[in-house]
Amino acid sequence: MQPFQYPDAPHVRLHGPSGYESYDSYRDWLRDEFHFRCVYCLNRENWNLQTGAWHIDHLLPKESYPDKVVEYDNLLYSCASCNLGKGNRELSDPCTCMLRESVSIFDDGRIEGRTTEAQRVIEVLGLNGSDYVEYRSNWIGIYSMLMRDDYSRFLRLMGYPLDLPDLRRKQCPENSRPEGLDKCCFVRRENGELPDYY
Ligand SMILES: [Zn+2]
Repeated sequence: MQPFQYPDAPHVRLHGPSGYESYDSYRDWLRDEFHFRCVYCLNRENWNLQTGAWHIDHLLPKESYPDKVVEYDNLLYSCASCNLGKGNRELSDPCTCMLRESVSIFDDGRIEGRTTEAQRVIEVLGLNGSDYVEYRSNWIGIYSMLMRDDYSRFLRLMGYPLDLPDLRRKQCPENSRPEGLDKCCFVRRENGELPDYY
């Protein structure tokens, strides 16, 4: 159910920056990596303007795995609600367990996991709580209404953000996947390859 359709396949990392001292330095890499939306609930940057709405989540919690605090492959892009809901718990990787085949979204906003890993993520983060259900139901309604009645606003809300980071210009100490630079959303938009909405 658009716009809450989970990915068809597990996420394969496009970028491989390393060497930053602070995990917040990876923010723009993660924004691009996860298409400017929360890996857990698919909430989008374009739907939230408030400061602090976007967090960097540690798949393996930083409290228990201090050696992975600034390891890029351990970092996820998450909305504040999901990150705070998760706290310092350890969950399955949403890149592999929150997929189209393992998660159902219904028109009324409810979510259902079809694997034990997805069910646990949904339960721990409270993704089937009344606030998230209402939230999804509203956006599902807005999506179809704007697509029909106000297509330019539809594109602003369902398209990519305007402030895409040009990752080629990032001063990154090391990068194990430099081939990803030319595939970042900024470059894809320059080349006319970025979809109008997603
Ligand atoms: Zn979220």
